[in-house]
This record gives sequence, structure tokens and C-alpha cells, in this order.
Amino acid sequence: MTRAEAYFDDAIRNGELSHAYLLESARPEEAQAAARRIVRRIACEKGTGCGNCASCRAFDSGNHPDIIVLRKEKDAPSVREVREQLLDDIGIRPYRFPRKIYLIDEAEKLNIQSQNAMLKTLEEPPAYAMIFLVTSNRNAFLPTVLSRVVSLKADEVRPEEAEEEAAADALFDYIRRAEFLTAAQMSGIAAEMKSRGMDPEIIITTLNGFVRDVLAVKSGAEEKLLYPAQRLTAFDWSARMSDRFLRELWEKLGTGRAALSSNGNPDLVIELVFLKIKEGLLSRDESD
Ligand SMILES: [Zn+2]
Repeated sequence: MTRAEAYFDDAIRNGELSHAYLLESARPEEAQAAARRIVRRIACEKGTGCGNCASCRAFDSGNHPDIIVLRKEKDAPSVREVREQLLDDIGIRPYRFPRKIYLIDEAEKLNIQSQNAMLKTLEEPPAYAMIFLVTSNRNAFLPTVLSRVVSLKADEVRPEEAEEEAAADALFDYIRRAEFLTAAQMSGIAAEMKSRGMDPEIIITTLNGFVRDVLAVKSGAEEKLLYPAQRLTAFDWSARMSDRFLRELWEKLGTGRAALSSNGNPDLVIELVFLKIKEGLLSRDESD
């Protein structure tokens, strides 16, 4: 499973598909395989990649009439190939299915002329059309191309990365609920996170990063968040915690880190940090 596929899980369910995507992986074969699973699923009549519907069967037999993979004679597609197979073709309605989907592998090899020629089509393809650029290097694209596509990571998530992400999610779950946690629950956090493979030092490091995000939100630099998925919580904290309190919390994290490195009790260290967070959320300090 790739992040891109996780994205399409939601997008297909919610009917929120865009017209142009860029799927990137440093490992091109992973991005290309993911792209095929994604377009197969988008084209599926059940939206699941069921394997039984006419679309899935056409795809699996290798001749889906409305999923078009750009063919090229040389290593890089020529402008002529892009024009004939994509730009001149996209206006022709799909043959059998509701959508017509274009797939361009190794899209970083499209030269500047081809990319320029594609701009208008990327901007406003016909409603039935979708375009997937599959690439190992998004830096090869014109900014005008990148601004017209939704970029997604198409690397296989390694099992250890998936575990780390799950642990971080669990930690942020506690962080979001800090004001409702009892002291007893707080004192269990370190042990639970340890069982998920996250050391108490990492809890402190994560909170340091998140406090930085809260400060970034306060200063209007919200495009630089370390944890963009937690932006709502960062906004919440920034509205409810004073600068003075955030400095105190920062110091508390430093004290906690020092305590851990001198063999302090991790359960207690993390509990004290969460008590401090709860205090900040409940105190409504207006001293800014
Ligand atoms: Zn199907």
C-alpha cells in the first residue's frame, strides 16, 4: 500500500477526484504499479477494483479501451507522441466507460516543449478525463505543471514506517485529548507508546516539534508546519495558549528530556508534561 492509494481510498469514497495527478516515487516500478492499481480502481464500476466488472475485466485482459498508457518509440516521449496520443485524443469521448484515463510513465522525461503543450489540457481537461503523470523526480517539471496537478507519494510504505506512523498517530491522539485525560491516563502514556516502539525521548522530541508548529501558526508561518496533519490542533493551541505559557511548556520539555537522560521515571516525566499541557489548555491565560 502506498500513501497515494490511501488518498484514493478516501477520494473515491467521497467522490472527490481531481483531473490530474502526479504520482512520485524514487522507485519508479513502485509508482508505476501503484498507478495501475489506482486507475484500475477508479475505472472499476464498483469503485473497488472488484475484478469482476466489465472495466476490471477489460483492464486485466490488457486492453481497456479507455485507459491509455502513453507509448513512446524512444527513451523519452516526443512532442508528437504527446500530441497524438494525449492532446488530440482527449477530446474524443470514452468508448465504453464513463471515464477516460491517461497514464504517462517516466513523465520526468517529458521535455519542456511537451510540458508546455500540456498546460491547457492539464488545466481544463474534459469532465470525463483524468491524467496521471508517474515519475521518479518531480523536480523535472515546470512549476506551471506542478501547480495544475495533485502530487502524491507513491512509494510502498515500509512496515517499519507504517509502525512509526501508527505510533505517531496514537501519540497525537493523546495530545489532542490532553485536556480530558486524567493523571492516571497520563501516567500510562509512556508505557503504551513504548509498547508501540516509541521511546519517551521521541515523545518529547515530537512535542518539541509540535510546540514549534503552534508558534509557527501564531506567527502566521503555517505553511512551514512539521506536522501539517495536526494543523487543527496547532490552531487550537495557538488560540488558547499564551506565548508565555508556550515558553514554559518548552522549558518543561527540556526538563523532561534532562530527567530522562539521567534515568528519571519515564511514566512520571511524560505525565508531568501532559499535566502542563492540560494546564495550558484550561487556564485561558490572556497575558499576551
Ligand atoms: Zn471492477
